[in-house]
Amino acid sequence: MNSACLERLRGNLARVREQIAAAAARCGRAPASITLVAVTKTVSADVARLLPQTGILDLGESRPQDLWRKAPLLHDLPVRWHLVGHLQRNKVARTLPLVSLIHSVDSLRLLAAIESAAAIQQSPADVLLEVNVSGQPQKHGFAPDAVAEALQQAATCRWLRLRGLMAMAGTPGDLAAARREFASLRELRDRLREAAGGACLDELSMGMSGDFEAAIEEGATMVRIGTALFEGIA
Ligand SMILES: *Cc1c(COP(=O)(O)O)cnc(C)c1O
Repeated sequence: MNSACLERLRGNLARVREQIAAAAARCGRAPASITLVAVTKTVSADVARLLPQTGILDLGESRPQDLWRKAPLLHDLPVRWHLVGHLQRNKVARTLPLVSLIHSVDSLRLLAAIESAAAIQQSPADVLLEVNVSGQPQKHGFAPDAVAEALQQAATCRWLRLRGLMAMAGTPGDLAAARREFASLRELRDRLREAAGGACLDELSMGMSGDFEAAIEEGATMVRIGTALFEGIA
């Protein structure tokens, strides 16, 4: 990869970091409390390799097969991979050893499959539960009122570490709706935390290129950003 590409990436990142800092400042939060996950699904492994040079060590992919292909190509770098898209049960065993966090656990059956694969591999699995905050039927995720049951199941799992919740806004471009949905995820988390007597659920993964500032203002601890970082990079 050439230096023009790295320069472009540094410029895009500086802009995104500035926006993260400004959004954090507006709600009195420390920018360092927000993890930027660079979603590399639209760029090659060669471009993804540049990220650690800019200080980004958290990389995300939405398709397990893309993760399987790219992670080994970057094995020499100290990156943490995140799976942010839908995971099918038959892909769990191969995915687990490659990832530090699965953002997209969207069914009780997937939760059980991750627990059993993690037990076989003798390696704990960190996960988030994806919540369908928009209620759109074609979207993945637990219905908000089904999350409490998933929490109960997760509590019986020895190898699973439930770290929080994840959501995607329902309608790209509708920022007001996105903000309401992000707020509803935070409120759901707060209610569950209280009911469960302090279950962790510290992480709120919400916000993409078009809506991460609103997500931060509503409490996001992880933003998943692709387009805004890789603009102008083939
Ligand atoms: C692609 C993707 C992102 C990043 O989206 P951008 O709009 O390109 O920033 C974030 N989360 C998930 C689940 C995605 O699939």
